[in-house]
Amino acid sequence: MKWYQLDVDHVEQKLHVTTNRGLAEKQVEQRRKEFGANKLETEKNTSKWLIFFKQFQDFMVLVLLAATLIAGLLGEYVDAIAIMVIVLVNSFLGFFQEQKAEKSLAKLKEMSAPVANVLRDGKWEKIPSQDVVVGDVLRMNSGDRIPADIRITKSNSMETEESALTGESLPVMKHATAISKDHLDAQDQVNMGFMGTLVTRGSGLGIVVGTGMNTVMGQIASLMVKTKKTITPLEHKLTELGKILIVVALFLTALVVFVGVYQGHPLYNMFLAGVSLAVAAIPEGLPAIVTVALSLGVQRMIKKKAIVRKLSAVETLGCASVICSDKTGTMTENQMTVKEVYVNGKNLYVTGDGYEIQGDFFANKEKVDRDYPNLESMLLYGLLCNNASLQVKKGKYFVDGDPTDGALLVAARKLGLSPKVNDNFQIIKEIPFDSDRKRMSMVIEDENHMRFLITKGAPDVLLPRSAFFLGEGGRKLLRSEDKQTIDNEINNMAQKALRTIAIGMKPISKDDPLNSATLEKDLTFVGLCGMMDPPRKEVKTAIMECRDAGIKTVMITGDHEKTARAIAINLNLLPENGMVLDGYQLNQMSVTELRNVIDQVYVFARVTPEHKLKIVQAFQEKGHIVAMTGDGVNDAPAIKASDIGISMGRSGTDVTKEASSLVLMDDNFATIKSAISEGRNIYENIRKFIRYLLASNVGEILVMLFAMLLALPLPLVPVQILWVNLVTDGLPAMALGLDQSEGDVMRRRPRNPREGIFARGLGFKIISRGILIGVFTLIAFMMTYQDNPDNLIYGQTIAFTTLVMAQLIHVFDCRSENSVFARNPFENKYLVLAVLSSLLLLLVVIYWEPLQPIFHTTFLNVRDWMLILVLSSLPTVLFGFTKK
Ligand code: ADP
Ligand code: MG
Repeated sequence: MKWYQLDVDHVEQKLHVTTNRGLAEKQVEQRRKEFGANKLETEKNTSKWLIFFKQFQDFMVLVLLAATLIAGLLGEYVDAIAIMVIVLVNSFLGFFQEQKAEKSLAKLKEMSAPVANVLRDGKWEKIPSQDVVVGDVLRMNSGDRIPADIRITKSNSMETEESALTGESLPVMKHATAISKDHLDAQDQVNMGFMGTLVTRGSGLGIVVGTGMNTVMGQIASLMVKTKKTITPLEHKLTELGKILIVVALFLTALVVFVGVYQGHPLYNMFLAGVSLAVAAIPEGLPAIVTVALSLGVQRMIKKKAIVRKLSAVETLGCASVICSDKTGTMTENQMTVKEVYVNGKNLYVTGDGYEIQGDFFANKEKVDRDYPNLESMLLYGLLCNNASLQVKKGKYFVDGDPTDGALLVAARKLGLSPKVNDNFQIIKEIPFDSDRKRMSMVIEDENHMRFLITKGAPDVLLPRSAFFLGEGGRKLLRSEDKQTIDNEINNMAQKALRTIAIGMKPISKDDPLNSATLEKDLTFVGLCGMMDPPRKEVKTAIMECRDAGIKTVMITGDHEKTARAIAINLNLLPENGMVLDGYQLNQMSVTELRNVIDQVYVFARVTPEHKLKIVQAFQEKGHIVAMTGDGVNDAPAIKASDIGISMGRSGTDVTKEASSLVLMDDNFATIKSAISEGRNIYENIRKFIRYLLASNVGEILVMLFAMLLALPLPLVPVQILWVNLVTDGLPAMALGLDQSEGDVMRRRPRNPREGIFARGLGFKIISRGILIGVFTLIAFMMTYQDNPDNLIYGQTIAFTTLVMAQLIHVFDCRSENSVFARNPFENKYLVLAVLSSLLLLLVVIYWEPLQPIFHTTFLNVRDWMLILVLSSLPTVLFGFTKK
């Protein structure tokens, strides 16, 4: 017998579990031991050794090793050993960088791992999907990805999309009854849910029957090939740039060698100098440093509660010019409280805040109670047509489920209706809420087996479906003037920023068909509830900061136009001439028509998720880089189409999370702003160290080239060049990747995504600083060499020290797009530390006698240092005044 052929009772017996208690902790432990974690084993970890040896694949390292060999063969053992050591140290550094990047990426993966809702020891818990075991009782809602293979035990109009397994993208309706047929394919087992498939509608319960590789998905996965690591556009751009730089560097190096040999330098010396120069000048480590900088930036974002799912998003974030954000839950707290109700043509107000159950109903300042006509019925309907539950933790009430539903429970409680009344009613059918329908319905049977339908939802959706209304004297015909009165009341509530919900009902007979088309019409309108959802307090400032940063914020909501407008004004989001469009208007417009007005639109109200796609496309046609938030299943297409898809960590569904590139752990709009500012900063930091590394390289090449052209001896020996490449370039560049943002980073316009790496004056900065570093190093060398022509080592030590010092000073210049003097040099403590340790290592190779022969150095005195300090600070200081 297969699982789908067994009754639910049989499945329970077989797996030693009951659907109302779930597994016991002991059973869970034992089963985890027996079956292992619930995950697919498709990827093998790369071993540490492999990463280490990969460093040697690097072309430059191979060239160096060849040079070592030649030096060794020619009997130049000191050179050979020095180069060897440098190669080793270099590989170790590369190894550690890569390890760090891998680790932080693995951690990221863990953080954005899916969760499952399971019943254990009678309590519902959210656990990582990995920890699900066979026998677990599982709850699924629309938008969830099913974490394991399950036998469905209850389905509320649950539909799943199984294209991941079957290739069939039409949703499959699920039910719980056993099927007796033999040999059914997965797609025909409609009482089963399969790992990796999506719940697209409704909700349901099930018992896990297979986990990990013991699932239908597992069987497929075992045949799949490992997915390749993707690289981000920036990494790609840099690799391309790297190729050009290699050619340029090799050309210049060849020129240096050629001129040198022409001027009479020994061939071996020039060969070694050429190799070292090529190694130093080619920024082979650039892509690796970029990856590290990106992943460190990602970690900083995590601290600010934004999880990046795709590394490329870090770059795109800095380009965002429009943020389209959901109102409910992202800009607001998503904590609803019923503040006003409308029954029998009268408006009552309700006291009390949040989900606390203290509060009363007042009509004209007079407290009313359960006798007030129709009030109790309306609240009872609200309580019955409801999926949330009100719970207490440490004396505080909170809602498990939809906050809108929760608010109705609290309101009912304020009138003294307890959830126990539920026991007198039985749910026959539920048509779930979704943002397209904007309503939900339940068919309910009372103790006397009388059936009735309750529908609640957006008032402008419910009113057209109503034929009657409940007045003081009972049910009356709903005439158009009654509709008008109700409409006025809706506007009235909406203007006060209240979210409005209408409640309607209809008695039905036992043999009425139970489908939504016939059910949800000719309703009796019972009343309205107006709910307050306070804006999050950080949002107002965040919107303002985005505006300063050239980023437009657009509010998107399913709520009434007037509600949305009131909140938008409250948040200072809607300027005086700003437009509000609603779903009905959007329907009339093509993407092009929308594009023509979209720059004036700040609020989209009464929209469905399909509209979001249109909005994204219209903004993109206008040339915007769009960030779009979403939480429900149907938001996924818009999120995918946007440049930066953003999903909600708390309330979001798996589907939107998977489609998104950024997850907000706290569902908060302000977090998007933090992420954007971090994204801009990371890009700026990448610019900083590219600038530093390349300017240093230009300096190194030029000092050699100029010296050869002037028929001077080599100002730097090969080991010195390699040392500079390793020590001076390596550490400070890494520290620049960790630099704080320049104060005005959120006051600049968004970056143009097509902008090249050298844009905004970076190319000029690199060349100008590079030339000055080269020239002043050469001057230091010439001044010393002219006075001491027979002490070449002395001149070379001065040149080496000047070059190193010039770079260590220049690194502070790289922190600013404006001027070195604009920033406090001690702000970045990593950089100070990196510079100090480079300095220390410099002093060691100059003053520690055993190293002197290896690095061709000699003692320097105070006068030498004065010369060095003046010449090495000039490239930075001179440009500090020009701001170019
Ligand atoms: P938002 O984008 O602001 O979350 P929704 O699409 O969720 O908007 O809701 C749109 C409208 O649907 C609300 O203004 C409300 O009238 C109605 N609504 C929201 N939640 C529910 C619910 N749980 N049951 C019935 N109606 C609801
Ligand atoms: Mg909603």
